[in-house]
Amino acid sequence: MIRSRKKSSQVLEKSLKIQGLDLDLKLTPGQKNLYLRVRPGKKILLSGPLGLSQETLENFVLSHREDLLKNQEALERSRLHQEKTYEKGEVHQLWGRTYFLEPKLAAKEGAYVFRDKLYLYHKSRDREGREKILLDFYREEMKKILQDLLKKAEETTGLKAKECRIKKMKTRWGSCNIRYRRIWVNLHLVKYPEICLYSVLIHELAHFLEVGHNKRFYGLVEGFFSDYEKAQALLKD
Ligand SMILES: [Zn+2]
Repeated sequence: MIRSRKKSSQVLEKSLKIQGLDLDLKLTPGQKNLYLRVRPGKKILLSGPLGLSQETLENFVLSHREDLLKNQEALERSRLHQEKTYEKGEVHQLWGRTYFLEPKLAAKEGAYVFRDKLYLYHKSRDREGREKILLDFYREEMKKILQDLLKKAEETTGLKAKECRIKKMKTRWGSCNIRYRRIWVNLHLVKYPEICLYSVLIHELAHFLEVGHNKRFYGLVEGFFSDYEKAQALLKD
Protein backbone atom coordinates (compact mmCIF):
# COMPACT_ATOMS: atom_id res chain seq x y z
CA MET A 1 0.00 0.00 0.00
CA ILE A 2 1.40 3.40 -0.99
CA ARG A 3 -1.07 6.08 -0.13
CA SER A 4 -4.60 6.38 1.01
CA ARG A 5 -7.12 9.09 0.41
CA LYS A 6 -10.76 9.43 1.14
CA LYS A 7 -12.75 11.22 -1.55
CA SER A 8 -15.95 11.43 0.44
CA SER A 9 -17.19 9.75 3.57
CA GLN A 10 -18.77 6.99 1.51
CA VAL A 11 -16.17 5.92 -1.01
CA LEU A 12 -12.80 4.50 -0.05
CA GLU A 13 -10.01 4.90 -2.59
CA LYS A 14 -6.40 3.86 -2.23
CA SER A 15 -3.45 2.36 -4.06
CA LEU A 16 -2.23 -1.09 -3.20
CA LYS A 17 0.17 -3.74 -4.38
CA ILE A 18 -0.69 -7.43 -4.49
CA GLN A 19 1.96 -9.92 -5.62
CA GLY A 20 3.75 -7.38 -7.78
CA LEU A 21 0.56 -5.96 -9.32
CA ASP A 22 -0.14 -2.26 -8.83
CA LEU A 23 -3.80 -1.55 -8.27
CA ASP A 24 -6.17 1.30 -7.59
CA LEU A 25 -8.75 0.19 -5.08
CA LYS A 26 -12.20 1.77 -5.03
CA LEU A 27 -14.75 0.53 -2.53
CA THR A 28 -18.28 1.85 -2.67
CA PRO A 29 -21.19 1.04 -0.36
CA GLY A 30 -24.03 -0.69 -2.18
CA GLN A 31 -21.89 -2.27 -4.87
CA LYS A 32 -22.53 -6.01 -4.96
CA ASN A 33 -19.53 -7.66 -6.57
CA LEU A 34 -15.80 -7.27 -6.97
CA TYR A 35 -14.53 -6.20 -10.38
CA LEU A 36 -11.11 -5.91 -11.96
CA ARG A 37 -10.48 -3.62 -14.91
CA VAL A 38 -7.34 -3.15 -16.96
CA ARG A 39 -7.07 0.44 -18.20
CA PRO A 40 -4.68 1.98 -20.77
CA GLY A 41 -1.89 3.99 -19.16
CA LYS A 42 -3.32 3.50 -15.68
CA LYS A 43 -3.18 1.02 -12.84
CA ILE A 44 -5.57 -1.91 -12.75
CA LEU A 45 -8.80 -0.91 -11.04
CA LEU A 46 -10.22 -3.15 -8.33
CA SER A 47 -13.71 -2.07 -7.33
CA GLY A 48 -16.23 -3.57 -4.98
CA PRO A 49 -18.28 -3.15 -1.83
CA LEU A 50 -16.94 -1.68 1.39
CA GLY A 51 -16.07 -3.88 4.32
CA LEU A 52 -14.16 -6.73 2.65
CA SER A 53 -11.05 -8.10 4.31
CA GLN A 54 -7.58 -7.65 2.83
CA GLU A 55 -7.44 -11.43 2.44
CA THR A 56 -10.63 -11.53 0.33
CA LEU A 57 -9.28 -8.82 -1.93
CA GLU A 58 -5.92 -10.56 -2.29
CA ASN A 59 -7.47 -13.91 -3.11
CA PHE A 60 -9.71 -12.34 -5.71
CA VAL A 61 -6.79 -10.60 -7.42
CA LEU A 62 -4.61 -13.70 -7.27
CA SER A 63 -7.27 -15.89 -8.88
CA HIS A 64 -7.31 -13.50 -11.86
CA ARG A 65 -3.59 -12.77 -12.00
CA GLU A 66 -2.80 -14.60 -15.24
CA ASP A 67 -5.65 -13.00 -17.18
CA LEU A 68 -4.78 -9.58 -15.85
CA LEU A 69 -1.18 -9.85 -16.98
CA LYS A 70 -2.23 -11.07 -20.39
CA ASN A 71 -4.75 -8.24 -20.87
CA GLN A 72 -2.33 -5.64 -19.63
CA GLU A 73 0.31 -6.78 -22.08
CA ALA A 74 -2.10 -6.78 -25.04
CA LEU A 75 -3.33 -3.31 -24.14
CA GLU A 76 0.18 -1.95 -23.81
CA ARG A 77 1.11 -3.39 -27.21
CA SER A 78 -1.82 -1.70 -28.97
CA ARG A 79 -1.09 1.56 -27.16
CA LEU A 80 2.51 1.60 -28.31
CA HIS A 81 1.34 0.78 -31.79
CA GLN A 82 -0.74 3.96 -31.90
CA GLU A 83 2.09 6.13 -30.70
CA LYS A 84 3.70 8.48 -33.17
CA THR A 85 7.24 7.84 -34.32
CA TYR A 86 7.92 11.38 -35.66
CA GLU A 87 9.48 10.03 -38.80
CA LYS A 88 9.27 11.41 -42.33
CA GLY A 89 5.85 11.12 -43.95
CA GLU A 90 3.93 10.50 -40.74
CA VAL A 91 0.51 12.14 -40.61
CA HIS A 92 -0.08 14.93 -38.08
CA GLN A 93 -2.98 17.33 -37.56
CA LEU A 94 -3.22 21.05 -36.99
CA TRP A 95 -6.58 22.85 -36.70
CA GLY A 96 -8.33 19.93 -38.38
CA ARG A 97 -6.00 19.79 -41.36
CA THR A 98 -3.65 16.95 -42.20
CA TYR A 99 0.09 17.44 -42.73
CA PHE A 100 2.92 15.08 -43.56
CA LEU A 101 5.87 15.28 -41.25
CA GLU A 102 9.15 16.44 -42.74
CA PRO A 103 11.89 16.16 -40.09
CA LYS A 104 15.12 17.94 -40.94
CA LEU A 105 18.44 18.22 -39.18
CA ALA A 106 19.17 21.83 -38.28
CA ALA A 107 21.14 23.96 -35.85
CA LYS A 108 18.03 25.74 -34.63
CA GLU A 109 15.03 23.70 -33.50
CA GLY A 110 11.43 24.51 -34.30
CA ALA A 111 8.47 23.64 -36.50
CA TYR A 112 6.13 25.20 -39.03
CA VAL A 113 3.60 24.17 -41.65
CA PHE A 114 3.77 24.93 -45.34
CA ARG A 115 1.35 23.55 -47.93
CA ASP A 116 0.74 19.94 -46.84
CA LYS A 117 3.97 19.55 -44.88
CA LEU A 118 4.85 19.98 -41.25
CA TYR A 119 8.54 20.80 -41.09
CA LEU A 120 10.26 19.81 -37.91
CA TYR A 121 13.80 21.10 -37.45
CA HIS A 122 15.81 19.22 -34.89
CA LYS A 123 19.37 18.62 -33.75
CA SER A 124 19.53 14.86 -34.19
CA ARG A 125 16.80 14.25 -31.66
CA ASP A 126 15.20 10.93 -30.76
CA ARG A 127 11.46 10.26 -30.70
CA GLU A 128 10.87 12.05 -27.39
CA GLY A 129 12.95 15.01 -28.47
CA ARG A 130 11.01 15.43 -31.69
CA GLU A 131 7.75 15.05 -29.84
CA LYS A 132 8.75 17.87 -27.53
CA ILE A 133 9.52 20.20 -30.45
CA LEU A 134 6.12 19.44 -31.95
CA LEU A 135 4.32 19.99 -28.63
CA ASP A 136 6.08 23.35 -28.21
CA PHE A 137 4.95 24.26 -31.71
CA TYR A 138 1.38 23.19 -30.91
CA ARG A 139 1.41 25.31 -27.78
CA GLU A 140 2.55 28.38 -29.72
CA GLU A 141 -0.12 27.76 -32.36
CA MET A 142 -2.80 27.55 -29.71
CA LYS A 143 -1.57 30.68 -27.95
CA LYS A 144 -1.94 32.59 -31.23
CA ILE A 145 -5.72 32.28 -31.23
CA LEU A 146 -6.69 31.39 -27.67
CA GLN A 147 -7.09 34.91 -26.31
CA ASP A 148 -9.20 36.06 -29.26
CA LEU A 149 -11.42 32.98 -29.07
CA LEU A 150 -11.82 33.39 -25.33
CA LYS A 151 -12.78 37.02 -25.80
CA LYS A 152 -15.39 36.02 -28.34
CA ALA A 153 -16.75 33.33 -26.00
CA GLU A 154 -16.82 35.78 -23.11
CA GLU A 155 -18.73 38.37 -25.13
CA THR A 156 -21.21 35.76 -26.29
CA THR A 157 -21.86 34.35 -22.83
CA GLY A 158 -21.47 37.56 -20.85
CA LEU A 159 -19.20 35.57 -18.52
CA LYS A 160 -15.58 36.22 -17.78
CA ALA A 161 -12.64 33.98 -16.94
CA LYS A 162 -9.84 35.42 -14.84
CA GLU A 163 -7.35 33.11 -16.44
CA CYS A 164 -7.16 30.53 -19.21
CA ARG A 165 -4.31 28.04 -19.35
CA ILE A 166 -3.21 25.41 -21.80
CA LYS A 167 -2.52 21.96 -20.40
CA LYS A 168 -1.75 18.55 -21.84
CA MET A 169 -4.55 16.34 -20.57
CA LYS A 170 -5.30 12.67 -21.10
CA THR A 171 -8.99 12.34 -20.38
CA ARG A 172 -10.63 15.74 -20.65
CA TRP A 173 -10.87 18.51 -23.23
CA GLY A 174 -11.20 21.20 -20.65
CA SER A 175 -11.74 21.88 -17.00
CA CYS A 176 -12.45 24.80 -14.76
CA ASN A 177 -12.19 26.13 -11.27
CA ILE A 178 -15.41 27.99 -10.64
CA ARG A 179 -14.25 29.68 -7.47
CA TYR A 180 -11.16 31.19 -9.05
CA ARG A 181 -12.79 31.60 -12.47
CA ARG A 182 -9.96 29.71 -14.06
CA ILE A 183 -10.19 27.60 -17.22
CA TRP A 184 -7.85 24.96 -18.61
CA VAL A 185 -7.99 23.76 -22.20
CA ASN A 186 -6.35 20.62 -23.51
CA LEU A 187 -3.33 21.24 -25.74
CA HIS A 188 -4.47 18.44 -28.05
CA LEU A 189 -7.43 20.58 -29.16
CA VAL A 190 -4.96 22.22 -31.54
CA LYS A 191 -5.33 19.14 -33.76
CA TYR A 192 -9.06 19.70 -34.32
CA PRO A 193 -10.98 22.43 -36.15
CA GLU A 194 -11.06 25.76 -34.31
CA ILE A 195 -14.76 25.40 -33.42
CA CYS A 196 -13.81 22.50 -31.14
CA LEU A 197 -11.62 24.72 -28.96
CA TYR A 198 -14.35 27.36 -29.04
CA SER A 199 -16.97 24.82 -27.92
CA VAL A 200 -14.76 23.80 -24.99
CA LEU A 201 -14.39 27.45 -23.93
CA ILE A 202 -18.17 27.88 -24.08
CA HIS A 203 -18.63 24.67 -22.08
CA GLU A 204 -16.25 25.72 -19.32
CA LEU A 205 -17.63 29.27 -19.11
CA ALA A 206 -21.17 27.87 -18.85
CA HIS A 207 -20.06 26.01 -15.72
CA PHE A 208 -19.80 29.41 -14.02
CA LEU A 209 -23.61 29.44 -14.23
CA GLU A 210 -24.36 25.75 -13.81
CA VAL A 211 -22.01 23.24 -12.20
CA GLY A 212 -23.66 19.99 -13.30
CA HIS A 213 -23.94 18.44 -16.75
CA ASN A 214 -27.71 18.61 -16.64
CA LYS A 215 -30.52 19.78 -18.90
CA ARG A 216 -30.10 23.39 -17.84
CA PHE A 217 -26.38 23.24 -18.57
CA TYR A 218 -26.81 21.93 -22.11
CA GLY A 219 -29.64 24.40 -22.70
CA LEU A 220 -27.25 27.22 -21.83
CA VAL A 221 -24.43 25.84 -23.94
CA GLU A 222 -26.65 25.35 -27.02
CA GLY A 223 -28.03 28.83 -26.53
CA PHE A 224 -24.53 30.31 -26.50
CA PHE A 225 -23.28 28.28 -29.44
CA SER A 226 -25.72 26.59 -31.86
CA ASP A 227 -22.96 24.44 -33.42
CA TYR A 228 -21.93 23.11 -30.00
CA GLU A 229 -23.05 19.55 -30.67
CA LYS A 230 -21.45 19.50 -34.11
CA ALA A 231 -18.13 20.66 -32.65
CA GLN A 232 -18.25 18.13 -29.84
CA ALA A 233 -19.00 15.33 -32.30
CA LEU A 234 -15.76 16.14 -34.13
CA LEU A 235 -13.88 15.55 -30.90
CA LYS A 236 -15.19 12.01 -30.68
CA ASP A 237 -13.45 10.88 -33.89
ZN1 LIG B 1 -18.15 20.13 -17.95
